[in-house]
Amino acid sequence: MYPVKENLKKTKETLAEGVKLVAVSKFHPKEYIEEAYAVGQRIFGESREQELRTKHTELPEDIRWHFIGHLQTNKVKAIVPYVSMIETIDSLRLLKEVNKQAEKIGRTIDVLLELHIAKEETKSGMTPEEWRELLAEGEWKDFHNVRICGIMMMASNVDDQEQIRSEFLEAAAFFDEIKAEYFADAPYFTERSYGMSGDYLIALQCRSTMVRIGTSIFGPRVY
Ligand SMILES: *Cc1c(COP(=O)(O)O)cnc(C)c1O
Repeated sequence: MYPVKENLKKTKETLAEGVKLVAVSKFHPKEYIEEAYAVGQRIFGESREQELRTKHTELPEDIRWHFIGHLQTNKVKAIVPYVSMIETIDSLRLLKEVNKQAEKIGRTIDVLLELHIAKEETKSGMTPEEWRELLAEGEWKDFHNVRICGIMMMASNVDDQEQIRSEFLEAAAFFDEIKAEYFADAPYFTERSYGMSGDYLIALQCRSTMVRIGTSIFGPRVY
């Protein structure tokens, strides 16, 4: 058995108090999740709807599932009944669909706005400028079954620590900007989700409130 409990403990020791840990369990078997659960971990991150659905059915009900992958609008309906947070809102269309499906079942879903800052084509999300336009346009204010709790982003996958740091700081500054402009009266708008196994120590220095860590806890993923 992979030393999930030990890794989790070591990882937690490096986190400042108040920082939330999303244990990214995608592609790992449910036994690994059970190990982490046994030592108190409750928030897990998954990136595929089908896998999340299976794990949700087989594992304890008080697990808080965060969806962290690219979400297609036609998959929203399936996850809305049990997902705790959708971290990867990357369009108005998706936000609208989450709101619609949540309203149908009388839920309000916590979501994060996914920011694209990394200088890579492959990273998803919307740029700060695209978010500014969307937020200014205002249609989102009519969505009463989603609760926008903050932002999420992924830094570039590079060795240059200063580049990573500057991307995190840009995300933090963007958070402050839209908090002041649109969410000053929203006490729940508090989350800055950034930092993964390779860069979360930098993220913590750049005001991350939520880190998403897979490999350091569960080992390499087998695809
Ligand atoms: C897979 C994934 C992670 C975890 O990455 P690790 O390097 O294994 O810690 C974090 N965030 C997102 C969005 C992911 O898809």
